[in-house]
Amino acid sequence: MKKTINYKSQKKETEISYFRNFKLSFEENIPKVFIIDKLVYKLYRDKIREIISNDPVFLFEAEEENKNLFKIQTIYNFFRENKVNRSTMIIGIGGGITTDITAFAASTYMRGCRLILIPTTFLGMIDAAVGGKTAVNFRGIKNNIGTFYPAEKVIIIPEFLQTLPEKEMKNGWTECIKISLIKKSGLYDLLKTDKKINIDKIRSTLILKAGICENDPEDRGERRLLNLGHTFAHVLETASNYKISHGNAVAIGIRTAAKLSFKMGLISRCDFIKINDILNKYNLPKNLTLDLNSFNQQKISHIFLYDKKNSEGINVVLFSGFQETFICSEIRLEYIKKILFSFIKKGST
Ligand code: NAD
Ligand code: ZN
Repeated sequence: MKKTINYKSQKKETEISYFRNFKLSFEENIPKVFIIDKLVYKLYRDKIREIISNDPVFLFEAEEENKNLFKIQTIYNFFRENKVNRSTMIIGIGGGITTDITAFAASTYMRGCRLILIPTTFLGMIDAAVGGKTAVNFRGIKNNIGTFYPAEKVIIIPEFLQTLPEKEMKNGWTECIKISLIKKSGLYDLLKTDKKINIDKIRSTLILKAGICENDPEDRGERRLLNLGHTFAHVLETASNYKISHGNAVAIGIRTAAKLSFKMGLISRCDFIKINDILNKYNLPKNLTLDLNSFNQQKISHIFLYDKKNSEGINVVLFSGFQETFICSEIRLEYIKKILFSFIKKGST
């Protein structure tokens, strides 16, 4: 098996490589600075110290509230104090929150520095660190500010997953399943074989995600299919005030897309069952409890209409077959809401 995957996006080549242990080496004689998830640093201190030697380190508390422009200023100060310039290598180690903010800082400081990402969550390895989207949250809107800036290298060290909590693993499985359902590939069958995480599953998911990003680096066509389940998930996450995890919300979002597609005669019963089967296999929820009374209907419509993925009316990703998806814009909001809420049990989250 080839040890690296290379893909090109935004005219930049990214090399994704795997390491069984922490024996990495970076180009010598190049100044480096690290931005590291504080928890990951605590858990892997000795191993990480081997990688970073005496280079400057910024420890980042990986919480969604910290993925903001204030923190970016603190990071810029850290860059200034450590004489970062365009030839400095900025290396981010952590989950998606850490790699998103590191990449945003690297892409904007002096109009762009060198960047390597080392994702430490399952979701980070198969999704967030690959594809070049960087982001921070702004005034209550997630990922409202960002750039397209692919890393020159993404380094996958599966050993990091040994300490990852079950809840975080589940978030990764949902995205993995989502990618397996978007277009024809062998990933679905691989996910069906067993529920163990292994390099083949990570690699197959990455090949698909990297391929889609290479074809459509700026989210204007095929890449929008990666939003499968996400428009519906966005409503559920907002309505629950983010008490519902992203993975659980996306799982219900994918079930909603499947049910809408089935009811509209776009897919067969057999396809509908296959989609739900894979979500069931990974114990992803079949319904969610949510207090919809505290969340008025108008607000829900507003979220659908103002979702940044919906610049021209309500666009949702639906199935036109098994492992076949498309963007549908001809569907009534009332009908979408009816199907989405058929998965919701009333009560407090
Ligand atoms: P995360 O970065 O919040 O990490 C989840 C938790 O796991 C944190 O508490 C973190 O400290 C901890 N953690 C990280 N690695 C660990 C390890 N090896 N062992 C134990 N604990 C560990 O979450 P995430 O799910 O990786 O990322 C979510 C973020 O990614 C969101 O902000 C989302 O917007 C972003 N994202 C970006 C893209 C993109 O294309 N740029 C795609 C998907 C998601
Ligand atoms: Zn997602």
